[in-house]
Amino acid sequence: MPQKDPTPRLHEFDKGVAYISSAYAAHIHRARIDYRVKKLRLDKIDELEGWTHEYKKSERYEHGVHILRFNKTTITIFHNKDGTYTLQVVSTSLEECREAFEQVALSLEAFDYEEMPRYLELYIRYHERKERAVCEALEAFADVYAFKQSSVWKWHEGKRVAYVNRVQAQLRGYVIHAKTYRHKRWRSEEGARRHPKLEVVVYFKGKEVARGIDVARRALATLAKFANLRRRDILEAGEEGLLQVLCEPDPEMLRLLNARHGRSVVEKIARESLETRREQLLWLLKQGYSLKVAAKIMRISYRHARRIAAECKRRGELVRRGRKWIVKAKRLRLEEERKKLVPIIHIDELDKDARRMLLEQLSLEAVQDHTIIARKGEERLIIKCKLAPRKVYECQVCHRELTWIGESAPACPYCGAILDLKNLKRVVIDVV
Ligand SMILES: [Zn+2]
Repeated sequence: MPQKDPTPRLHEFDKGVAYISSAYAAHIHRARIDYRVKKLRLDKIDELEGWTHEYKKSERYEHGVHILRFNKTTITIFHNKDGTYTLQVVSTSLEECREAFEQVALSLEAFDYEEMPRYLELYIRYHERKERAVCEALEAFADVYAFKQSSVWKWHEGKRVAYVNRVQAQLRGYVIHAKTYRHKRWRSEEGARRHPKLEVVVYFKGKEVARGIDVARRALATLAKFANLRRRDILEAGEEGLLQVLCEPDPEMLRLLNARHGRSVVEKIARESLETRREQLLWLLKQGYSLKVAAKIMRISYRHARRIAAECKRRGELVRRGRKWIVKAKRLRLEEERKKLVPIIHIDELDKDARRMLLEQLSLEAVQDHTIIARKGEERLIIKCKLAPRKVYECQVCHRELTWIGESAPACPYCGAILDLKNLKRVVIDVV
């Protein structure tokens, strides 16, 4: 008689408030780190192996500029007025920048330096049929976060094409540029390179790098999700040798874009009780929005927002310090709700890179029929699959692997040991 599968049942989990999410595999296009170096043996520059060296005269730098190139890495060396040097390193990732600098610094005896990460670019290449949707996503994004927006349109075969649509925004303390654009000569390109890129750049400006990358990843995936980019819309990089990073939409960001864009959501907000609207305003102010922008997002007049703010102030939930509103309310209901949010990801909607990267990062909690509950870092998420996932067990006794589909707990075919969640190493998901 088959044993009952000892893996936990789905109903044993508090699944919280589930919402449909997604995930995208973005390509890291370029990154830049600047290094300020006290001393440098420039006379050794031509001894560098593998690097090409070019010297350029410059009006700004009396000693001119040296440019080193190796594969996809470029190092530009400036001799500063105070006798120090600046090395601008541009490569395909921050790690590549660091490695390249270390290699060059060793040869040029540049041992005393300061590292300044500048920016990182992430992109997804997508099919042009979604260009209009992506532009709409950028419009909504600009409405909420932007301090500047510009676009260039071109005509191609009787259709208006967004050659560049760029938004410069301030997001969670970082300067973020988001844009969709085309290759310079896209008309004569073949394959994926004929199609546009959705790109997000984060400028670090001395702020924490890891958090900045996280904000950029979230912004990119939120835009992609808002534009409803699906598996068939995602194209290959169009360039060799780029690293990839998994990006997931941010529910708060998505909510704001929807609130700004979707009429139904706005009407829902308008029908909410005063108490809820007070919560909403407090929440937006706590996110760092000005009262003016908060009013815009809630689609109420500035005067109305000021009235609500005055009420919050009277209740001691809000104080004004200089030009800034400080939220005093300790816990907001919206924040509590957010903690319970659990993303549901339809795995069949993801392109193969996103699928692979997501599965690599999961620790499995339960696998049943077409549903997987897993953790990714601190967060729990639910994965839905159209085809039942294959479970790959590794026997603790004889260390052999077994692939299994089905509800009952398998026994090891080699030694007879019962296999359960502890032995479950990974899942293999086939997509339709
Ligand atoms: Zn065994």
